[in-house]
Amino acid sequence: MTQLLFRDDPYLKACEATVVAVHGDAIELDRTVFYPMGGGQAGDTGKIGDWRVLDTRKGEGDGVLHVLEPGASPRVGDKLPMQLDWQRRHRLMRLHTALHLLCAAVKAPVTGGRIQADKAHLDFDIEMERLVKEAIEARLAECVQQAVETKILWVSDAELDARPELVKTMSVAPPRGEGRVRLLEIPGVDLQACGGTHVARTDEIGALRVAKIRSEGKRNKRVTLELVD
Ligand SMILES: [Zn+2]
Repeated sequence: MTQLLFRDDPYLKACEATVVAVHGDAIELDRTVFYPMGGGQAGDTGKIGDWRVLDTRKGEGDGVLHVLEPGASPRVGDKLPMQLDWQRRHRLMRLHTALHLLCAAVKAPVTGGRIQADKAHLDFDIEMERLVKEAIEARLAECVQQAVETKILWVSDAELDARPELVKTMSVAPPRGEGRVRLLEIPGVDLQACGGTHVARTDEIGALRVAKIRSEGKRNKRVTLELVD
C-alpha cells in the first residue's frame, strides 16, 4: 500500500520515501506526493533522487508508478527524496478546481474531461447555442472572486449509491473499494465525487478565459479553459 500524501495535503511538494518495487523504468514507493494520472487529471512530474520523473501512473490497487528517465537505477530499499514540479502541479490544481466551477456554470450532463498544465476542458451533452462564452466567463469570474474555501468530505459507498447525482463528471467513476468515497465540495457552487487535487480557495485559481467552444459530436460540446497569467 502506498500512502497517498496528496489526498490529505495537495500542497505537499516534497517528502522522503522508500522504494518498495521496481518495474522496469517505473518505481513504487511506500508513500508519495505524486498524483497518478486519473479522473482526467495529468500525472505529476518532478524528481526522485537525482532522476527525473517523466510521468506518474496508477499501479495495482493503491499503487503509484513513478516513471523515471531512461537509465535510472533505483533499488528496492533505497530511501530517496522526492520533489514535485510544483509550478506545473499548481497549474493543474488551479485548472482542475476551475473545471468544478465550469461544471456549476453549465447546467448539463458532463460526458468527459481532461486537465493538462496549459488548458483543461469538459464535454457537455448540450446544444451549442446554450454555450455562451461571455456568460460562462462571467460566472467563473464571480466564483473566483467569491474566494470560496474548497472542502474534502468522505461518504460511504452506500451513501454514494443513494445519491447518484454526486457522480457527475470527469468521465470516470471515483475510486471505490475502500468502503468510502472522497467528495470535493465548493460550498454554494459544486459538490461531487472527486479524487483529484484542488486549490484551497477559489480565488487562488486566478483569472480564467474560455479559450474555445467546439462541437466534438452530437453529445459532446467541448468547453476549453485557460488560465490568464
Ligand atoms: Zn476535482
